[in-house]
Amino acid sequence: MRLYDAKYNQTCKICNFTISHNKQGRFTLHLKIQHHISLNEYLISYYYSSDELNCSYELCENKVKLYRGKPKKFCSNACASRNKAKPNICHVCGKKFDTTVRPHRATKTCSKYCENQLRSNSTYNWHKSMSKQQKDEHFTKIISKTAMTRKKNHTPSWNSGKTGIYSQEVIKKIRKSTLKQMENKVFRKTKIEILMEVFLKEFKIAYTYSFILENRQFDFYLKDYNILIECDGGLLACTQNFIQIQQTGSLKE
Ligand SMILES: [Zn+2]
Ligand SMILES: [Zn+2]
Ligand SMILES: [Zn+2]
Repeated sequence: MRLYDAKYNQTCKICNFTISHNKQGRFTLHLKIQHHISLNEYLISYYYSSDELNCSYELCENKVKLYRGKPKKFCSNACASRNKAKPNICHVCGKKFDTTVRPHRATKTCSKYCENQLRSNSTYNWHKSMSKQQKDEHFTKIISKTAMTRKKNHTPSWNSGKTGIYSQEVIKKIRKSTLKQMENKVFRKTKIEILMEVFLKEFKIAYTYSFILENRQFDFYLKDYNILIECDGGLLACTQNFIQIQQTGSLKE
């Protein structure tokens, strides 16, 4: 890259007018009179290529401003200071990221989606590392937790209250398939997300799960209504046309 310097000879990239230097501002005057632009505008639009104006911080896609006709290194002080530390690398997808998308430096993953992946991967490894006896105990715990939730939500299972309907053999089979489900990461979504999904399916509403908009991940996107749904923390927030954000209370209500 040849940096602009008033001492060098200048050839106008718009009309090929050439002058030996711009020390007295004659080239600047040419630009103003012939093309109605300032030297700064000319340098940005015609002299430097787009790549030469990229911010030097690797995760930034902004363009830099000029200082005395030369591109600055960074687009902002924030980028200059972020550049001092190495970006984090996502433990799941390997993408580089920084505190602009994940406020805590200790976060291992680049997005909520990768975070869920990591969680289910570690659940998978955890299940894999369990002994048979541990698996059985873990399984029993999950079953009793599910039963408690069902009781609380008044949604008894079809076999509730019935005893002796399963043979030992069948129970073994169910256990095996449940463990397999766990290992196949079927339980990746949070409880409230699953409830929301059931609701959407019931009303035949088309949705995209884990929708990403402007570096932010939302739980559901309803294309036909242009609505984003965030189930986080038990609160349901809708954004209409991506502008208006309103909390509509907890999902239970
Ligand atoms: Zn010209
Ligand atoms: Zn920048
Ligand atoms: Zn990732």
